[in-house]
Amino acid sequence: MSDSHPSRVFFEANPAANVASRLADYPPPERWDDWVELDAKSWPRRVEKRYAIVPTTCFNCEAGCGLLAYVDKESGRIRKLEGNPVHPGSRGRNCAKGPATLNQVDDPERVLHPLKRKGPRGSGEWERVTWDHVLDAFAERIRKALVENRRTEVMYHVGRPGHDGYVDRVLRAWGVDGHNSHTNVCSASARVGYALWQGYDRPSPDFSRAKYILLVSAHLETGHYFNPHAQRIIEGKMAGAKLAVIDTRLSNTASMADVWLSTWPGSEPHVLLAIARHLLEQGAVDREFVARHVNWEESLERLAPGRPKSMDEFLAALRTLYDGFTFERAEKESGAPASKIAEIASGIAAAGRGGLATHVWRSAASGNLGGWQVARCLYLLNVLTGSVGTEGGVSPNGWHKFVPTPFSSPPPQDVWSELLFPREWPLAHHEMSFLLPHLLEDGKGRVDVYFTRVYNPVWTNPDGFQWIAMLKDEAKIGLHACLTPVFSETAWFADYVLPMGLGPERHDLMSYETGPARWIAFRQPVLRVAQERAGKRVDFTWQANPGEVWEEDEFWIELSWRVDPDGSLGVRRWFESPYRAGEKITIEEYYRHIFENSVPGLPEAASKLGLTPLAYMRRFGCFEVERDVYRRYEDRPFATPSRKLEFVSPTMSEWGWDDEAVPKPIESHVSRARVDGSKGEFVLIPTFRLPTLIHTRSGNAKWLYEISNANPVWIHSSDAARIGVRTGGLIRVSTEIGHFVNRAWVTEGILPGVVACSHHLGRWRLSDALGNDRWSSALVTIEETSPGVMRLRQKKGVEPFDSPDPDSRRVTWTESGVHQNLTFPVHPDPVSGMHCWHQKVVVERAAAGDRYGDVVVDTRKSMEVYREWAAMARPGPGPGGLRRPLWLLRPVRPSDAAYRIGPAESP
Ligand code: SF4
Repeated sequence: MSDSHPSRVFFEANPAANVASRLADYPPPERWDDWVELDAKSWPRRVEKRYAIVPTTCFNCEAGCGLLAYVDKESGRIRKLEGNPVHPGSRGRNCAKGPATLNQVDDPERVLHPLKRKGPRGSGEWERVTWDHVLDAFAERIRKALVENRRTEVMYHVGRPGHDGYVDRVLRAWGVDGHNSHTNVCSASARVGYALWQGYDRPSPDFSRAKYILLVSAHLETGHYFNPHAQRIIEGKMAGAKLAVIDTRLSNTASMADVWLSTWPGSEPHVLLAIARHLLEQGAVDREFVARHVNWEESLERLAPGRPKSMDEFLAALRTLYDGFTFERAEKESGAPASKIAEIASGIAAAGRGGLATHVWRSAASGNLGGWQVARCLYLLNVLTGSVGTEGGVSPNGWHKFVPTPFSSPPPQDVWSELLFPREWPLAHHEMSFLLPHLLEDGKGRVDVYFTRVYNPVWTNPDGFQWIAMLKDEAKIGLHACLTPVFSETAWFADYVLPMGLGPERHDLMSYETGPARWIAFRQPVLRVAQERAGKRVDFTWQANPGEVWEEDEFWIELSWRVDPDGSLGVRRWFESPYRAGEKITIEEYYRHIFENSVPGLPEAASKLGLTPLAYMRRFGCFEVERDVYRRYEDRPFATPSRKLEFVSPTMSEWGWDDEAVPKPIESHVSRARVDGSKGEFVLIPTFRLPTLIHTRSGNAKWLYEISNANPVWIHSSDAARIGVRTGGLIRVSTEIGHFVNRAWVTEGILPGVVACSHHLGRWRLSDALGNDRWSSALVTIEETSPGVMRLRQKKGVEPFDSPDPDSRRVTWTESGVHQNLTFPVHPDPVSGMHCWHQKVVVERAAAGDRYGDVVVDTRKSMEVYREWAAMARPGPGPGGLRRPLWLLRPVRPSDAAYRIGPAESP
């Protein structure tokens, strides 16, 4: 039996299944073809139901947990979705959002056919069209752009990627620089911090073997890799690890901590550097690791020029650098007691070498100006304790994520889009996506063909009214298709709404750093697979999916062939079968080639079971390539220019940020000094998640909205008493450009002077008949109440409605939350490019005439704030006339030549 044999993974995850006298937790893989359960609805009669169990992968967050779809052999429909016990990341476990995929599949409100607008954009009139019409309309427009060499005018803007590299390959085949993402409203800040240290932009903590776990923010429990990481954090705790959480809010994660620090937003680096100082003072440093893996000689020259090059000198220079970061100063900055910070520092020091698992992703990093330094300061603790690449430490994600190569790879494009990476932000870790309306308003370009894919910028991004204005302007956006399973605020303003498959209705490859192993998972359209198992021929996934729901992989193949029908543009050849020369590739061939050629060990494991590699993946849905992956620096060094962990970052110095070249605090735009409580000012934390919802992708899940359907503003009891508001009372929260009205939730679980509002809720629709799901949205009006001042007001909240699902008449909740993001101006961080989410706000009791859900925005002010923040940037070009350092990661990286600004292009 191979190491990664599914039965081994299954029985390790389910020891009870080895004992004949007990019930198994999961159906054993060998019985997935014909699984029998008693029908609950027929009770007390014992009626057997037979299922084909088909594995797939959850699409509701990026963790990529395994799911098993129970396809009823009688009805041909999915009966339920549960965990896949042989998935190495999730090991059979899911959060609430995994099984709720069933709601999304059965949602009576979902879009089942392609729609084209009839009236002006946003008028809400739609007609059904054929996929042939859609493909021809877009192919003609894209072909024209390619022929006319307008290769920055085709843009694909993705919210949830959910695939590894498929669309990147499509865009490269077209030769366009058109990949846009949501990352700069998500994680770009932390990524810069990690990338400057190690080249890789994500951390992969080994929680289950850690001796000490330090989390900055709650995202492990409610967001990023929620379930796979959460289960491993608890394993670590059960094995004796201490858990410390730094989070302003008493999150669910904080409630599980041994030590919780509620810190003022933006002060986190002070706390982390006080811990670093303690480690240096106590000598709790892994000197051997630092000597071998850190660019300490280069760093020492920068910190103490001319000093002898020894480790003693380097550590002395660090002690000098961080001398002022005492526990007492950290307390003054953060509000957290010095004794508690010292307790964490002592715990980390006592844990010894190699066993510190840390993590920051969004929250503190994504909320603050300079938040990327939170990741720099946090990872410093791992570096000092030698907890990088170790059992219980943190590895670079690239050591644990497995990305196979497809049958052919188009060359990088020779063109650079300044709408994606404007030269003002040369170190921006991802595309400046949330600035697209502002960049177009500034005349930086035009988009002729725009695909938004599982992306809802009108609702998700800050400054949503700028997005609405841009999407309605045909001079800025020529043709817009929204690829989405459901309607959304953004789809409302599109030219086409194109229904795309949910998690169990499409193919994708997934791999994530959920622990010290490398695995690959196969998302697959379960009805197609079930029908094929039953002997039915299915040529395209949409034939098995509900309605005319396509899977995107097949959409891109068809579209690419129509863009280049005779092959003269050189596009088509990338979509020709590797098995049948000159013929169009099928999606099965695409994945078959990868599984046969690019996944080490898979062909052998499949052969032992008498299966082809593709059949193996169809049957089990995943494959563990390697486990216990540690110390990969022995054969795969860090991806920085020096190939070492970079304490001093020469790149920062060379690109005009010498003052930020070492881990240190940057004063946040919401620091204590900048927020005047005597004027009623607060910091608003608008980013926290609820464990049961995901951004805009869960509005079509009735079970989840039954649990979570409001986002009241957390406010400390002392602040609430001062303002004179109780839980449930209305408050007005005013930002730089507007205000929103929401209910208060009075609690001791947040720092005085800070308020917080979850970012999931507040969905809206403009028509009762069509638009966002009625499970989750309020019916609203949008009016211009005075020149440039827009008001969104709720006409009615959620109420029971008629549909084929009888549950829609049983809806008990009446509110859907408040859309706060509309009132946020853009805050592009001058280094990372991240939108700095935290807001300085004024909180007061609602005024006369205010209504729950009101959102008012003065759109004239939003460009002013944009320009204030843009003025902080330090534009390129950098050394050698480059737009961006060649080594720094960039999605869909163009050729080196495209990085250079030519003489004619120089600013
Ligand atoms: S953590 Fe939940 S939402 Fe995310 S992939 Fe796993 S089951 Fe799905």
